[in-house]
Amino acid sequence: MRTNGKNVRVRRTIGLEKHMLQTERLILRPWEESDAEALFEYAKDPAVGTPAGWPPHQSFEESREILRRVLMRDETFAVCRKEDNRAIGSISLKRDTDLTFGADERELGYWLAKPFWGQGLMPEAAKELIRYGFEELGLSRIWAGYYDGNSKSRRVQEKCGFRYQSTDTGIDVPLMHETRTGHTNVLTREEWLRQGKKHPLIGVTALYDAELESLWMMPAYLERIREAGGTPILLPMTADESEIAQLVSVLDGILFAGGQDVSPALYETTDETGTVQPCPQRDAFEPTLLRLALKKDLPVFGICRGLQLINACCGGDLYQDLPLQRPSDVCHRQERPYTDPVHTVTLTADGGLRALLGTETLAVNSCHHQAIRTLAPGFRATAITPDGLMEAIEKPDAPFVWAVQWHPEMLSQSDAASRKLFERFVQACRERANRA
Ligand code: MN
Repeated sequence: MRTNGKNVRVRRTIGLEKHMLQTERLILRPWEESDAEALFEYAKDPAVGTPAGWPPHQSFEESREILRRVLMRDETFAVCRKEDNRAIGSISLKRDTDLTFGADERELGYWLAKPFWGQGLMPEAAKELIRYGFEELGLSRIWAGYYDGNSKSRRVQEKCGFRYQSTDTGIDVPLMHETRTGHTNVLTREEWLRQGKKHPLIGVTALYDAELESLWMMPAYLERIREAGGTPILLPMTADESEIAQLVSVLDGILFAGGQDVSPALYETTDETGTVQPCPQRDAFEPTLLRLALKKDLPVFGICRGLQLINACCGGDLYQDLPLQRPSDVCHRQERPYTDPVHTVTLTADGGLRALLGTETLAVNSCHHQAIRTLAPGFRATAITPDGLMEAIEKPDAPFVWAVQWHPEMLSQSDAASRKLFERFVQACRERANRA
């Protein structure tokens, strides 16, 4: 017996991480005490632990103690074959290691029993755990290391898309009482989103500079789409319906960007009181683009003018001049910087935004002169300002038609709500692309 009589505290799997994950051939589940026998059988082989920096297990009791003390922690999963659910390896996303910095970073670790080497099982397990880390734990970065000469481990990391970061010649390996050279790799969330999946092609309506008679674009719209794993493409302005239909047929989603006031003619109003400098080029292009996109069930995301355009074209109408027609204490036209929120919105209980963000209120920026007056039929308000404006809407019977009055692309890059919003949109586009 090598147990030292210490009272071993068993940490139970808790909360979010009590997951069982599945791949084509494997189940990843929490380790259980009943796995001690399988663990000893495989971990007593020096070929398994030595390259990873731990000595072979000497006894069943030692395996059971390591199981309780290390493996049953909530960030570690037993790797099991589906046919018998028997543990043949271990994989973990450890927090607070020498490599991790923030709470949203983890270090990937793994080992596999020798009889199962050479079948691609560990990359299969690792890819699923990486997906879990980025999608379900919201990680920003996963680190992984291997000791010099451990080519099996290196290959797992290469197959998962990790990128070389650094080499350290003096790593202390306490369990082996030695010093080794180690290599560190990293995979960021953005890199992961871009790899191995189809990047949906997302059309972005261009901005128009009347003075220069030029199309232009603020990079933030494109950057946020890229960060969420999409490929943005700036659209031309055309009134030719067949050309617009061709654009819609190659796109996986469309972002309707901010810009000039929407022409009252689009919501069948002749009184232009308060409307400032509409853009005839955009107003000739975007309504047809929207109509054809909705007809094809293309995911649509509207920002600022985009929200107003969607509401106006689908049968609602607008306040043409907010300060004039609906004065309020809430600031809707803030000064720079637009990275800072200036008012709140309340997310409606049945709306997709509340479900996505899991919060009741959200702080947003605000830079608009118009706003929704009457909501378009078939739409639902998903966010309301303290002065009663509908600043986010969705079309519940469409796969994804969302719009917001604020500018999530300009809020701070660390704003989690804005990031989730773009990721939800790009995910809808990706699903559309994979169906098509
Ligand atoms: Mn506002």
